[in-house]
Amino acid sequence: MTNETQAQPLTDGFHLVIDALKHNDIHTIFGLVGIPITDLARLAQAEGMRFIGFRHEQHAGNAAAISGYMTQKPGICLTVSAPGFLNGLTALANATTNCFPMILISGSSEREIVDLQQGDYEEMDQLNAAKPYAKASYRVNKAEDIGIGIARAIRAAVSGRPGGVYLDLPAQLLGQTLDAAHGKKSLVRVVDPVPRQIPAPDSVQRALDLLKSAKRPLILLGKGAAYAQADADIRAFVEQSGIPYLPMSMAKGLLPDTHPQSASAARSFVLAEADVVVLIGARLNWLLSHGKGKTWGGPKQFIQVDISPTEIDSNVAIAAPVIGDIGSCVSALLAGIKTGFAKPGAEWTDAIRERKDKNLAKMAVTLDQNPSPMNFHSALRAIRDVLKAHPDINLVNEGANTLDYARSIIDQYQPRKRFDSGTWGIMGIGMGYAIGAAVTSGLPVVAIEGDSAFGFSGMELETICRYHLPVTTIIFNNNGVYRGTDVNPTGGKDVAPTVFVKGARYDKMIEAFGGIGYNVTTPAELTKALTEAIAAGKPALINAVIDETAGTESGRLTNLNPQSAAAKK
Ligand code: ADP
Repeated sequence: MTNETQAQPLTDGFHLVIDALKHNDIHTIFGLVGIPITDLARLAQAEGMRFIGFRHEQHAGNAAAISGYMTQKPGICLTVSAPGFLNGLTALANATTNCFPMILISGSSEREIVDLQQGDYEEMDQLNAAKPYAKASYRVNKAEDIGIGIARAIRAAVSGRPGGVYLDLPAQLLGQTLDAAHGKKSLVRVVDPVPRQIPAPDSVQRALDLLKSAKRPLILLGKGAAYAQADADIRAFVEQSGIPYLPMSMAKGLLPDTHPQSASAARSFVLAEADVVVLIGARLNWLLSHGKGKTWGGPKQFIQVDISPTEIDSNVAIAAPVIGDIGSCVSALLAGIKTGFAKPGAEWTDAIRERKDKNLAKMAVTLDQNPSPMNFHSALRAIRDVLKAHPDINLVNEGANTLDYARSIIDQYQPRKRFDSGTWGIMGIGMGYAIGAAVTSGLPVVAIEGDSAFGFSGMELETICRYHLPVTTIIFNNNGVYRGTDVNPTGGKDVAPTVFVKGARYDKMIEAFGGIGYNVTTPAELTKALTEAIAAGKPALINAVIDETAGTESGRLTNLNPQSAAAKK
């Protein structure tokens, strides 16, 4: 572009946003076009970036968030103003809650009209709306500040505890012009965006002293540990200490689930019996019963490794906090045990093994049954056996019973391969995470979805087909939320609140967009369909018909239903 009077080359806000992202090695944008960002998306593509267009912003945001989790680089989600921004905000909040780095970039309407509330097209004070749900929120008003604005957003998303960042770009900013040389100089490359944070030596020593005093130690790995990409040191720490470990759901595969020190099959036993628990990138939130109550049995002491100092003592007293990045903290702990550490006694490890063997034998009996129609267990057995041969496949999982059962039945073999409902226990992440994982890794994805959970993002099947992504979606179809058998007690014409259309054929949905659909009713058919779909490497959907009476209300969260919780009191 040139300014004719001065013949000076010019640039503008559109170009500067793209240049600033590329300058920081960000080459993919997930989003949905419209006023005022359509040209931004077009230009990004023209300038060699990948733009993945979605059908709803929430899923574009979820794709960006999971991409951030997989790479430690912020995933970018681009949306239009007000409604598009609000649709993306759910994903931004979910990313912040899960500690995933992402940047939601939304176009917005003119400040002077928004601030005087004069009723602009899609008017909204987006910056203030985003603030409570983001780790940081910024607005750029001048084209020459775009470079610094994007640098700030990147740093805020990935440094310290990662999270979601909102970046507000008013429409007038994108059209602002600037001398090209000045524009180029205004770009900022973020130096050391994820600085190491070394733990204080005395905090490491305190933790080691406590660990050495333990009779029944346990390591608990959370998705922060998986995110940190300190895989080799974490494995060495577990193996050289000889301490049994439990992976939280998204930390599965950090060590293969088949590892002899995994205590997953004796989870309740170890949580209740352990005397010292080392939390590595896991929070004592609802997923861990807040660190107290029956689940946690007798008295115990906690060592907590986390990057965020305010996480410590959030639910129970922490005897030995170790604050720093997980890579640095675990390597310091590892160095400490190398100088002398007695592995846990046989009394503890034998007791765990005994429990595991007993529970696994019991589970094997359940898994080996072949009821007709299929239930969750027989269907998951078929999937488990197929996935064993594909350890690098990305697995997405959501639902109530579908999530609970799949988490314990499907083994993971590699780190950062399992993406699920996470900290909120949210439904609706399915197709967004599947697309984000496929685009980011270039590897196949299998999404195991409850029929209800799938409904939140089902339209993104078109996106999957449009980009020819190797995503196989398996719908556990039991005709409803939790199950399909509830009846309307009044006998009225409306079905019960939890019931869907009976015998729905979700496989037909993907056929509408050129994907491959399968309808299966037995484990053998499921095995064949999944094997074929993975081999084809094309968009596919398997409608797996499950017994509609199978499944419990709220899966394993029955205690969170107000009525059952009240009945317990
Ligand atoms: P899970 O749900 O698997 O238990 P959480 O999301 O509750 O895991 O916990 C993740 C924790 O990991 C958060 O408290 C976060 O601050 C921490 N964390 C994330 N990344 C790092 C890192 N690189 N180093 C240290 N701690 C981290």
